[in-house]
Amino acid sequence: MEYRTLGEEKVSLLGFGCMRFPVKKGKIDEEASRKMLERALEAGVTYFDTAWPYHDGKSEAFVGSVLSGFDRSRYQLATKLPVWLVHSREDARSFVEKQLANLRTDYIDFYLLHAMNGQRWQEMLSFGVPEALEECSAEGKIRKLGFSFHGPYGDFERILKARKWDFCQIQLNYMDVNDQAGKRGADLARELGIPVVIMEPLKGGSLAALPQDAMAPLRAINPASTAVEWALRFLAGDRNIRVLLSGMGSMEQLEENLRICDSPAPLNAEEEAALERAKQVLDSRVRNGCTACRYCMPCPHGVDIPRNFALWNDWGKYSNAREARWNWHNPDFASARADACVQCGECVPKCPQNIPIPADLSRAAAELSAIKRQ
Ligand code: SF4
Ligand code: SF4
Repeated sequence: MEYRTLGEEKVSLLGFGCMRFPVKKGKIDEEASRKMLERALEAGVTYFDTAWPYHDGKSEAFVGSVLSGFDRSRYQLATKLPVWLVHSREDARSFVEKQLANLRTDYIDFYLLHAMNGQRWQEMLSFGVPEALEECSAEGKIRKLGFSFHGPYGDFERILKARKWDFCQIQLNYMDVNDQAGKRGADLARELGIPVVIMEPLKGGSLAALPQDAMAPLRAINPASTAVEWALRFLAGDRNIRVLLSGMGSMEQLEENLRICDSPAPLNAEEEAALERAKQVLDSRVRNGCTACRYCMPCPHGVDIPRNFALWNDWGKYSNAREARWNWHNPDFASARADACVQCGECVPKCPQNIPIPADLSRAAAELSAIKRQ
């Protein structure tokens, strides 16, 4: 495992994102997920990232139940203040206490204001939340304070320069270099001496397996390489990036991430050019940029928005009619399909990717329901 530093801490380059554990009957598959956490620890992963809303509010407590069985000095915990539920400094302090209890710990190593944008930052300032969290730091309950970000670049620059943050967390992958904080934001953080944690390095799993035509330029350079390898190596060359958070949903994914993060070589110029060609192929295929963050959920009419978009995007990228038909007609999915959307628009302002959700659901329903058996 490659290690970098974040503050005074030595952190594993691979961070375990605790938002996509294996699921059984709608709940965290605790047996499978426990094995993954234990395997990650054994392989040297130190950084475990969770948040109040992950897995419908169950992730923190599950992670706490497993990791508290291990020596606390072997790992760092990162979790986040659900700023959309915070209306006073007392609220902020109260969440920190509840999260400490969930995680069964006396301190949180890395605490973030969750999913910040310009408007939320103004609200947090008006409530005195940064000061409340500084009090928690002084009391030893929080070690390092940062923020995660979803919004336009200008908001990111303003928040980043507003105080001396210990770190920040941004979405970055080779398909999103110009979105949100993007590559420009990562460069600014480096200039300001603020370490970066990366989320969505695989774009919600979309970059974990590429179609043949997108893989072709990559395989021409390195026939044995995998899509995940290219995505993680794309980011590993920036030494100000300290952690790559991967939301792994199976032991196979964990093992592959472990192998790559053992010693990820930065891309050379020839490889960068090949990746550009692969991107052009993908850009022409992807239907929308849903990262499956689930901030838009729940839908009051039962639509599983990210599941529909994942299916639609997969269809766009892979053109696998059998798989798409099977998923679309799965009885499990019947009441959550895009065609149950009543176009009320309630989900729209919750999407950090600014996806026109109702319109895209209509398009998805039309396309997916029309796929013929092959
Ligand atoms: S617009 Fe559709 S998906 Fe969004 S909340 Fe309304 S019914 Fe649900
Ligand atoms: S539609 Fe937007 S909010 Fe909903 S899961 Fe996708 S990216 Fe997240």
